[in-house]
Amino acid sequence: MDNELKYLVYISQLDTRLDEFEEDLGGLPEQLKTIRQNYEKQIAMVKETEKILRDVRKFAVNSKQALDDLKDKEQKLSDRQFRVRNNKEFDAITKEIEHIRQEYNKITSEMRSISVKEDNLIEMLEMQKQERLEIEKDLKEKEKEYETISSDQNEEIKELKSKKKEFEKKVSRRSLDDYKRVRHHLKDAVVLAKRNSCTGCYSAIPPQKIVMLRNNLDKLFFCENCGRILYPEELVLEENFLF
Ligand SMILES: [Zn+2]
Repeated sequence: MDNELKYLVYISQLDTRLDEFEEDLGGLPEQLKTIRQNYEKQIAMVKETEKILRDVRKFAVNSKQALDDLKDKEQKLSDRQFRVRNNKEFDAITKEIEHIRQEYNKITSEMRSISVKEDNLIEMLEMQKQERLEIEKDLKEKEKEYETISSDQNEEIKELKSKKKEFEKKVSRRSLDDYKRVRHHLKDAVVLAKRNSCTGCYSAIPPQKIVMLRNNLDKLFFCENCGRILYPEELVLEENFLF
């Protein structure tokens, strides 16, 4: 392998950069999800209230029609009452009219309560719509914020990732697995051994290990204290290896 340690250093630095991008986004994706869910909920709530209001209005229209019909019936019965031939018939019609009036009063009082209900629903609907508007505004702002951050980043992230892939090809499968294993716990998985100590945890490195490190650039050495992959000061790194 053409000095894979060097490429591991590059990969580690690329990963650090990629981590920084993630951090910039912060909790934004999670926040967006929550706001979207709230927005959907609010839309459903408005629809539900609108449906109830429609039903209430339909009921009011039907009740109004029922009242008209009852009035009609009563009128007809009154007319008939003038033409009855005996008391029995007269009483029967009186009873019927009474029954109609009771029904009429019952519907009238129902309509009063329906009217109060309608007023309350209208007020509730207004509030729900206002709330929906506010959530929508919030959602749009957050979406814009997210788009701005991620579109600025997208190009650079793409470039970093493609570079990383390129470097990964220069490293053996085994070393790459070692790197990933260390990085699972420690973000800065590859560190410089400077003045005989690990710059990851600052513990001392035995001098004979430093010598081995210098002389075996094709082999991986790990800090005995923290487990990070070490590279010696002698390792030649290209400055601005990215560009
Ligand atoms: Zn260490």
